[in-house]
Amino acid sequence: MLNDMFAGQILLTGRLKMLRLDTERERKRFLRPPSTGKSPTVSESPKSPQTSDIGEIRVPDIALNNGVMIPQLGFGVFQVPPEETQRVVEDALEAGYRHIDTAAAYRNEAGVGAAIASSGIRREDLFITTKLRNGEQGQALEAFHNSLRALGLEYVDLYLIHWPVPSQGLFVNAWQAMEKIYANNQARAIGISNFLSQHIDILLAQTEVVPALNQIELHPTYQQRDLAAKCSSLGIAIEAYSPLGQGTDLEAPVVVELAARHGATPAQIVLAWHLAQGTIVIPKSANSARMRENLGATSIPLTRAEMESVTALESGARIGSDPAVAAFSQM
Ligand code: NDP
Repeated sequence: MLNDMFAGQILLTGRLKMLRLDTERERKRFLRPPSTGKSPTVSESPKSPQTSDIGEIRVPDIALNNGVMIPQLGFGVFQVPPEETQRVVEDALEAGYRHIDTAAAYRNEAGVGAAIASSGIRREDLFITTKLRNGEQGQALEAFHNSLRALGLEYVDLYLIHWPVPSQGLFVNAWQAMEKIYANNQARAIGISNFLSQHIDILLAQTEVVPALNQIELHPTYQQRDLAAKCSSLGIAIEAYSPLGQGTDLEAPVVVELAARHGATPAQIVLAWHLAQGTIVIPKSANSARMRENLGATSIPLTRAEMESVTALESGARIGSDPAVAAFSQM
């Protein structure tokens, strides 16, 4: 179970909507893809199928609001101990994941970097996310360069503010530093995590670049529908963290029943539910069989009625902390 440091929420998202570029200013804010990395045109085609012992895997890409493509099903490394991270991420890459989600606060960026280096996979075929620590919002440029160094990379694909920490009053400053990182092409996209509606309003009013995505706690029992709908309407993609509810949502009878009906596992049903809504997901597993199992969710079609039966599991109970008040500076 998550400790309080990571309380967050999940989201439920609607499918990725067409961007509404209502004003010239909005056009400017969205359409500024940095030159580093893959061009949107090249990456719009589906990724090459990965083959593993669960058969052919095809992870869809989703277009962020600046045209950068993100694999919809990625791999999270929260709570993976630093000394195990290289092995775990090597296993994930071997299984077929190409999108890895880490954070400075996880203290395992170096392990992620070592796995990337040993994999032999071309940098442009990977999508790497890391996050700015709460305690470093006042020194975002320095923190970012420390993350790059730990990862052994020249750029990241996505850099996120980990938590808004409103009591600190620093997230606007941090975002302005991240806009510089983005302008320098050292992050192909920048985004936020654990931002609630009021934090997004402040950010949009005081800064230039619209976040590419908001990574929030989102799983069947905690869906944050209003927040997801707002983000979607602003062109901010939703990325679900703790997409399996850290395992707890897998025991819901409706999920178990659907798994039996589809010859699938409960985790595959929950992930298929996310994917069908256009949500980006980053399940974590330290177990290579479950890593592969989770990738298998990409091939499970759910009917509308089945989708609704999972959606009905909403309970309003988050696992993580409440971003309105969370203020852990050690992260
Ligand atoms: P998840 O919902 O991904 O659940 C992970 C748990 O589920 C682990 O205990 C794992 O165990 C288990 N599990 C994974 N696959 C299966 C399966 N197929 N069957 C049964 N159990 C399974 O929770 P996380 O909190 O780890 O979230 C995922 C990622 O989201 C994190 O790793 C991190 O990258 C990100 N995150 C971001 C936060 C933020 O504040 N921005 C907060 C929390 C998470 P095992 O390892 O033994 O397989």
